[in-house]
Amino acid sequence: MTLSCFALGEQMLDVDEALAALSELVATRLSTERLPLTAAARRVLAEDCVSPIDVPQNTNAAMDGIALAWPAPTELSLVGEVLAGHRFERPLSYGEAVTITTGAPLPPGADTVIMHEQLDLDARARTARIHQAQRVSHGQNVRHAGEDIARGSRAVRAGTRLRPQHMGLLASLGIDDLEVVRRPRVAIFSTGDEVTMPGEALGEAGIYDANRYSLRGLLEALGCEVDDLGILVDRPEAIRDALAHAATRADMVITSGGVSSGQADWVKPALSSIGRLGFWRIAMRPGRPLAFGVLGEDGVPFFGLPGNPVAVMVTFLQFVQPLLRRLQGEHAWQPTRWKAIADEAMHSRSGRIDFHRGIYRVDETGQVHVRTTGQQGSGILSSMVAANCLIEIEASRADIGEGETVLLQPFGELT
Ligand code: AMP
Ligand code: MG
Repeated sequence: MTLSCFALGEQMLDVDEALAALSELVATRLSTERLPLTAAARRVLAEDCVSPIDVPQNTNAAMDGIALAWPAPTELSLVGEVLAGHRFERPLSYGEAVTITTGAPLPPGADTVIMHEQLDLDARARTARIHQAQRVSHGQNVRHAGEDIARGSRAVRAGTRLRPQHMGLLASLGIDDLEVVRRPRVAIFSTGDEVTMPGEALGEAGIYDANRYSLRGLLEALGCEVDDLGILVDRPEAIRDALAHAATRADMVITSGGVSSGQADWVKPALSSIGRLGFWRIAMRPGRPLAFGVLGEDGVPFFGLPGNPVAVMVTFLQFVQPLLRRLQGEHAWQPTRWKAIADEAMHSRSGRIDFHRGIYRVDETGQVHVRTTGQQGSGILSSMVAANCLIEIEASRADIGEGETVLLQPFGELT
């Protein structure tokens, strides 16, 4: 681990500086495990998958029709048929054809398939006559062996998170087990005397715990094992002991709340006593304050996220997500960003990134437009529910006028 992210002290960081400092902390990915293909969905591949076969295995018909060896006379004699799953072994000579179904291997020497719609078949005479012969061309309607994936070539790269299409592709190569990165174990806490477990009676000054539940959803969508350690009261010893314990069993520890400079904000001092505090002032909104550091002898990464539920989700998406993906070996991950026309004025201050909750739409011409969900307070979690994107207003920009271009991050895999 480098020292740089601790040397940054209490200075104000921009989001890119914070991301760069964070990425230095995770130099290696977690260990790997071998899993059956059916258990590997959404996991990250630990090694390249090389195809043991040509896909398709045989040069085959892309249409139902007849197969022949070019050139084609107008009338052909039908010498057999070949169905998918079967072979026709005798080479075809000039003027001969076989009827063939989609996916069936071409007989030796055959190189062209003519579909039924271009033929008059006479079953009794066992002949096929081509109409509009000028529309038939050499090599048509044929899929070549290995044209999708050649034997020995890389089918899926290490570091790929496996989507349903990867599962199908790997299965089509006959692969039934895989080396994947093990799940990160992530311990989560909420903090605050007012924070109440759903299902319990709400005290007069209480607020139900939202953050452990949104965090769990985000973490599970990222393939993590969640170690839910509950709600911590605002007492320094309680927080210190809980963090120390969590660090012995987790690959990452995340808390929410208790990181501002208020009287009951004990997360930072706790971190300083049992680990090391990294940067904690980031020029973004929502999302300030945010603490980062490492815990215990193993240097387990720690995030002290803000208490407000929107800020928790935004900081998770921007900072925790890239680190968790890196831990899983997904190195080049970036959020998806689109440009959109702002359909309303938006408030922003220069010198910090503003993330608004947005609703984008695509107009008849294909142009993306975006407006905000309305009130943008960082405690208004219904704004995340109404939104389908985060609007990202760069630090260099102040208020946005209607009609200006802005960036957005569409909600996707996690949200
Ligand atoms: P704090 O940073 O601890 O001062 O928290 C900031 C705001 O977020 C306060 O209004 C807290 O009540 C609220 N908050 C903190 N933790 C949670 C939580 N787990 N769920 C919902 N709101 C919370
Ligand atoms: Mg608090």
